[in-house]
Amino acid sequence: RAFCGSRRQPAPLPVPQKIVATWEAISLGRQPVPEYFNFAHDVLDVWSRLEEAGHRPPNPAFWWVSGTGAEVKWSFEELGKQSRKAANVLGGACGLQPGDRMMLVLPRLPEWWLVSVACMRTGTVMIPGVTQLTKKDLKYRLQASRAKSIITSDSLAPRVDAISAECPSLQTKLLVSDSSRPGWLNFRELLREASTEHNCVRTKSRDPLAVYFTSGTTGAPKMVEHSQSSYGLGFVASGRRWVALTESDVFWNTTDTGWVKAAWTLFSAWPNGSCIFVHELPRVDAKVILNTLSTFPVTTLCCVPTIFRLLVQEDLTRYQFQSLRHCLTGGEALNPDVREKWKRQTSVELYEGYGQSETVVICANPKGTKIKSGSMGKASPPYDVQIVDDEGNVLPPGEEGNVAIRIRPTRPFCFFNCYLDNPEKTAASEQGDFYITGDRARMDKDGYFWFMGRNDDVINSSSYRIGPVEVESALAEHPAVLESAVVSSPDPIRGEVVKAFIVLTPAYFSHDPEVLMRELQEHVKRVTAPYKYPRKVAFVSELPKTVSGKIQRSKLRSQEWGK
Ligand code: ATP
Ligand code: MG
Repeated sequence: RAFCGSRRQPAPLPVPQKIVATWEAISLGRQPVPEYFNFAHDVLDVWSRLEEAGHRPPNPAFWWVSGTGAEVKWSFEELGKQSRKAANVLGGACGLQPGDRMMLVLPRLPEWWLVSVACMRTGTVMIPGVTQLTKKDLKYRLQASRAKSIITSDSLAPRVDAISAECPSLQTKLLVSDSSRPGWLNFRELLREASTEHNCVRTKSRDPLAVYFTSGTTGAPKMVEHSQSSYGLGFVASGRRWVALTESDVFWNTTDTGWVKAAWTLFSAWPNGSCIFVHELPRVDAKVILNTLSTFPVTTLCCVPTIFRLLVQEDLTRYQFQSLRHCLTGGEALNPDVREKWKRQTSVELYEGYGQSETVVICANPKGTKIKSGSMGKASPPYDVQIVDDEGNVLPPGEEGNVAIRIRPTRPFCFFNCYLDNPEKTAASEQGDFYITGDRARMDKDGYFWFMGRNDDVINSSSYRIGPVEVESALAEHPAVLESAVVSSPDPIRGEVVKAFIVLTPAYFSHDPEVLMRELQEHVKRVTAPYKYPRKVAFVSELPKTVSGKIQRSKLRSQEWGK
């Protein structure tokens, strides 16, 4: 009899899951990347057909709210239609050819997602930038990237006008606005009139998709070039495992559109059929974020640690989150204290991930796996992540070294092509068989990675090596500390010592600084190894940060060392 002694055949997967499973297998490096790949054609248009065939819950693919009552909701079909119109604007009025570059500097407006997809449809290489860019930043980026076009909004247009004469490659300027401006094409008007018919350009998997300027935490931002497949297929597996997305999820990442995390969200959510939720969020406001979670059926939330540090300052028990079931963070180290406070008050765990503009997810805590507080999780497949010494030799568990990704004999497909126009920097990022991230960490015997700091941020005091994050996390446990940055400071005897720059919580503003300093020093000695305590302390009103919200320890360090 068939069922005696033989295993029952597993039930065939439903159509969408079968398709996603194939993308996931490629993402995990278990199946080869196809020679030709275009995310709009091969992922979005496929979901549009699945949606039409009733294989997806009636969930929008994109949901934007202004915070003042306006809403935009697109199904995959509507997203397809609108983005084909946008593609006709890029190929028509803007005259962009495959391989041409376009800068996208927009607030969190639906047009950012439309134009990103239109770039894919036309083979235009997109270069997102954050809206806080100054004239100088814009000039640097436009000149370095030789972008032929820029799309931006009213508030940035004057800054672009002030420098565009010095950017000879720039041919067209596209404005997202309800009014017109001399010298600019009006995107909304052109979109209204554009045809919905468009043939997607056939791109090779290795063709460039995007150029990202890094956050510039340690110096001038670098141009990181990604291919159509590196991002387009590289996030499917982590999207399913770490972000835990399915076609019924509503995923909100509060990130600015100009930062790489917006792409991480796009390429994690849409292959998994999930809805991308966006709040316009003109400025980061904890109460707005918490109210939005209470009003809309957001299932999955991702914010940088800086934002979670703000959120846990609020009384979270006053809010009832409608549908929230999964939370994520990354981009900076998460202090264990923040994670514990969030979990205690919301009953939702916070899963940290680690990566760079150059990569997809390097380490993560997939949903449901055991979290070791303070660790950024285990290597995220298909990456082989190791701790190596300065010669590229793999170090044993427990030893501190460089976080490295194996790129030889096989370079993972989900990896940047190069630092654009900078072969020296590209070559310098490799050592032996590895790509060197520039971050220091150790791996424990269970394969969990423990971040110490960026290479330059690690403090060497009387031959003790001290990671700033350990000291900052210890400080974060004290109620007086809103946030802090720990750097090295010169010392005639020890060479360098630990100095903490501390932003106080309002309740401690009036405390005696001398007394508070001693109390915090004693606190650090109590909760971590005593040699790490900050011998110098400065109370400050804010910390220097990149526009993406990351603490710039290098600025404080230069200040300390008089550079
Ligand atoms: P630049 O390379 O110009 O200095 P950047 O490295 O800050 O800028 P990104 O690529 O946006 O630019 O950031 C990646 C870096 O952010 C990582 O190399 C690491 O230092 C830090 N990072 C990201 N996630 C985490 C995390 N979970 N824990 C600690 N650090 C993290
Ligand atoms: Mg970097």
